Amino acid sequence: MESHGADRHPFSGKNTMNREAAIAHWTKRLVHKMPPSAAPLIARWIVDLKVHFVISKPRKTKLGDFMAAHNGKPPRISVNSDLNPYNFLITSIHEFAHLGCYLKHANKVNPHGNEWKKIYTDMLKPFVSKSIFPEELIPVLVYHVSNPLASSCTCPKLSRALALYDNNPGTFLSDISAKVIFTFHEVEYLKLEKRRTRYICKRMSDGKKFLISGRALVETPELKLT
Ligand SMILES: [Zn+2]
Repeated sequence: MESHGADRHPFSGKNTMNREAAIAHWTKRLVHKMPPSAAPLIARWIVDLKVHFVISKPRKTKLGDFMAAHNGKPPRISVNSDLNPYNFLITSIHEFAHLGCYLKHANKVNPHGNEWKKIYTDMLKPFVSKSIFPEELIPVLVYHVSNPLASSCTCPKLSRALALYDNNPGTFLSDISAKVIFTFHEVEYLKLEKRRTRYICKRMSDGKKFLISGRALVETPELKLT
């Protein structure tokens, strides 16, 4: 008897082709935004998990976000278009981990709780490779994925390492307003008044005051992953 596979399953061949074409389409778009060798896998996640993936215009308040499927709409992930390639990839994985966590636990767990951290680090691990990240980032990433409980969504060590690849790494202390809390060498301070070239800054943990140079590169907590 002749095989009429295509007749018995009239749509299977078409679907396979659509899937491949969709993955190729997304790979092509993503190679410009993230390390090229990571793009095919993220493209496959987008297609297979039926995600509405948005390369968003830059937002000041967040790097990316995730919205679960609702009212017949697919799950939605957005990532800011202006992130450097490494940050774009890590932010994408961060948001996909929200989807993975939602599929497994629905709304029963905290957004960045231990369940999410486990899923996130498991998803990130296969990407920790010299074919994707520069060599100097590997130790930071290995630390990041091997300490799931410490790998909060705003891991300061990783954020700082990633910021080195931005066109503008961090903010000068002189450029932020007074009475703003900032992070310098992983310690939180409140910026107070100026003294010549330096600023009096109060350490948040114990209220002790320090003089820090206006040219110190500091981080402000504006950019948070959601
Ligand atoms: Zn998040």
